[in-house]
Amino acid sequence: MRRVYLDNNATTPVAPEVFEAMKPFLVEDFGNASSIHWHGQRAKAAVETAREQVAALLHARANDIVFTSGGTESDNMSILGAVEAAETKDGTKHVIISSIEHHAVLHTAKSLERRGIAVTSVKVGPQGLVDPADVERAIRPNTVLISIMYANNELGTIQPLEEIGRLAGEHKVTFHSDAVQAVGKIPVDVEKLGVDLLSLSAHKLHGPKGVGALYVRKGTHLAPLFFGGHSERDRRPGTENTPGIAGLGKAAELAAAKLAAEAPRLAALRDRLEDSILAHVPLCARNGAKEPRLPSTTNIRFDHVEGEGFVISMDLKGVACSTGAACSSGSVDPSHVLSAIGLSSAQARSSIRFSLGRMTTDEDIDYALEVVPVVVERLRSVSPHYKSAVPSVK
Ligand code: PLP
Repeated sequence: MRRVYLDNNATTPVAPEVFEAMKPFLVEDFGNASSIHWHGQRAKAAVETAREQVAALLHARANDIVFTSGGTESDNMSILGAVEAAETKDGTKHVIISSIEHHAVLHTAKSLERRGIAVTSVKVGPQGLVDPADVERAIRPNTVLISIMYANNELGTIQPLEEIGRLAGEHKVTFHSDAVQAVGKIPVDVEKLGVDLLSLSAHKLHGPKGVGALYVRKGTHLAPLFFGGHSERDRRPGTENTPGIAGLGKAAELAAAKLAAEAPRLAALRDRLEDSILAHVPLCARNGAKEPRLPSTTNIRFDHVEGEGFVISMDLKGVACSTGAACSSGSVDPSHVLSAIGLSSAQARSSIRFSLGRMTTDEDIDYALEVVPVVVERLRSVSPHYKSAVPSVK
């Protein structure tokens, strides 16, 4: 059966060049990067090359890159580390996040609240964009951290980081951004953005899973999350995941080389998919702003279509996409992001994310466009809700 993968925001396939770059470190170059002998030095050299490659993608200094186990760890390390290291006059601390952050940020912030640290979650409008003025209004004398994502994983909307970075700088508040969905897809320049901390993850840019990085601006106070040996300049102990890090480095190098051509190619494919669905499938709408948005992402609401059923039906026809609903303990909760932009539970549950990637072709989009209207029509034809809501339908 033909398989079309339109769930690249969940994860991406490892690029063949990345796999080749990783292989030696799983086989002959197996050394521990902390060993001083030849084997160790081979591994160490690979880690340092990867540090340069990741730094180049972010316009950062190599010394400011710390390797981690992925986006979740980078987010935890930033938030918990910055808050712990911060000092305030009266000892109380306050953190600002947005209501559309990934769970890696949201749940970390919740853990701070349980420890008595105040957290403000800045709301977004229907466009799915944070207003920098709201961030500024939320700043208090004891605010120690602002954590606002760069691109939202469900909607693709790109947040105004430059303005928020400027505000954070003016108020001398440490500024973290979860840029897991942005890195490799849009240009990221840590100087322009004014971030002190920035999280990224290899598996979102055609690298391997379980490895990521954190950019830490020189001079940023950050308490360590883990304790152990002296790896990563004492910021992150544990034997380096050399194959993973080499893979991340190669993925970063490839992303930097391909970004200028890939972004418009993906935007054109995404727009064709979105425009055609909106034009030809009745009762559907895009969720969130058209721009500024990742070139690879569209989130569409198909009224009277149950998202889970849609994803399963699409899968049976070979197309992978995802719903905004997160399945937890047997119940399907509507996505907090879709609720945050004002969607009802029913609307959130009928929303579908299509996310494209480097492997997506014109033919993939043609096939998806063939399948989507058929699946929507079939699901609506068996929906009693649709029949009662749209009486002309028999
Ligand atoms: N932040 C965002 C915005 C994400 O989309 C993801 C992954 O879905 C993460 C963080 C977590 O990254 P990882 O899977 O590397 O832990």
